[in-house]
Amino acid sequence: MIKTIVQGIQLDEKSSYQKGPALAPPLIREALYSGASNLYSENGTDIKNTIDDKGDFIIKNYFDIETITREHLESGNKILTLGGDHSITFPIIKAHHKKYPVIDILHIDAHSDLYDSYEGDKYSHACPFARIMENNFAERLVQIGIRTLNTHQAEQAKKYNVEIHEMKTLDLKHLPKFKNPLYISLDMDAFDPAFAPGVSHHEPGGLSSRQVIDIIQAIDSEVIGADIVEYNPNRDFQNMTAYLAAKMMKEILSKMIK
Ligand code: MN
Ligand code: MN
Repeated sequence: MIKTIVQGIQLDEKSSYQKGPALAPPLIREALYSGASNLYSENGTDIKNTIDDKGDFIIKNYFDIETITREHLESGNKILTLGGDHSITFPIIKAHHKKYPVIDILHIDAHSDLYDSYEGDKYSHACPFARIMENNFAERLVQIGIRTLNTHQAEQAKKYNVEIHEMKTLDLKHLPKFKNPLYISLDMDAFDPAFAPGVSHHEPGGLSSRQVIDIIQAIDSEVIGADIVEYNPNRDFQNMTAYLAAKMMKEILSKMIK
């Protein structure tokens, strides 16, 4: 059976507000393998034997993320990354670009992360999708769950042709269909804080667990990679956000091995 690589990227130095996401990867794994649930996704896939776990990487140099990801991609398998803050998505996508020159990205988040620069840092967790789009690493960027657009980010979205499905007008019956190979980037703060308290930025008015699961299950194009980012264990209650991240990991992995 073809396996999916899991890599944990322990970095939160590019978080603007609170640290903590560097602690996330081992806790998501612990939730995944805990006795509280089984290892089946809802579509009946046993993901137990589909994971090639490369372990966790404590990142001292941001640019090492690209190197680590490229080395793992060279094995020929797809990668699901556990973050880490959202800054990690840019070097991950950069590493994918050679192998997958034309991709679409489905980005699920409360924030569009399109700042040209944030607090003087072009690689802040508020900027990864500006970096991705200015480098033409994605043909199409679709964002779902957004509820924090400001003027600058709305202008950036226009400049880079980003398709934004804001919470205020979200219609899950008309989800976008993708033509190109798809990368999924899931920021845990896309969920309403009631479902996922373990994030740095509590932004009310978000998606339910069920809604995000439905969005993932509705995807019918090839998923070539994914990340689950911004889980902050310092803010969690009873590990409930870790369990939600583990659940999403199962749902996304079942799509990736198809
Ligand atoms: Mn984000
Ligand atoms: Mn966010």
